[in-house]
Amino acid sequence: MISRIGGNGEKLTGLRARLCKARAKGAGTSATERARRLLDAYLATAERHGRASGEVITDLASGGAAFTIGMAVRETLIADPPEAVRHAACAEGCAFCCILRGGDGGTITAAEAERLHGALAPLAGQADGRDWHPDACPALDPATRGCRAYEARPMICRSFLSTDAGACEVNANGGSAPGAGLIGTHLDYLAVNALARDALRGTARVATFSLARIAAGAVAGESLAQSLDAARHQSRALEDACRDAVRASKGTS
Ligand code: SF4
Ligand code: SF4
Repeated sequence: MISRIGGNGEKLTGLRARLCKARAKGAGTSATERARRLLDAYLATAERHGRASGEVITDLASGGAAFTIGMAVRETLIADPPEAVRHAACAEGCAFCCILRGGDGGTITAAEAERLHGALAPLAGQADGRDWHPDACPALDPATRGCRAYEARPMICRSFLSTDAGACEVNANGGSAPGAGLIGTHLDYLAVNALARDALRGTARVATFSLARIAAGAVAGESLAQSLDAARHQSRALEDACRDAVRASKGTS
């Protein structure tokens, strides 16, 4: 339901005013203020380009805006990488980070869920990551251990790295070895999404979903609607993900 702002003629300037007061629960003050600046710049650009407010609201609600902003920030970081990124041990076929202990696999947006489902649905019925390891992501190729949805992989997969693949293997088996974590830009993406949720409260719903459940549904032949229903998070999951990202980004931003 996106009609209340657009239908009432409220313009993007009104949305920017709401953003000034919005909070990104769990993200902390500095990440919230940074996300506010990023999102305001996004809205100012949308305004300059004359985008329709309904279209922009849909983009915010689906998480498409958070993904676009997160990718832009990530590219800036990769262009001038911090030490943890420079010394990353990540390589094709190294997939201990795709073993999703706990089953949820991480928080993804509706836009990401739709892309991931679309990439995996044609592979329904084929062997998947769980034929390699029972807790692996269903998007994984069990033979090559490459991601079969690489172009459609969500931000959490693009944000995780390690300076030590051995540590990742230890952690995949329940340990807690140092060296692996989320780059700091992941918090930008989550905080932008959390701010958008608060700014759109009463106008549009900003939902989050389980990566693992969306992937499992797609390869089981479920429709997108069935997978979204089954994978939908409780509203608190985004706040918890922000908190986790604050902790995980320390030392990798
Ligand atoms: S995060 Fe760890 S398991 Fe994943 S690719 Fe990098 S080194 Fe390998
Ligand atoms: S979507 Fe791809 S990169 Fe992400 S956890 Fe699954 S297999 Fe790994």
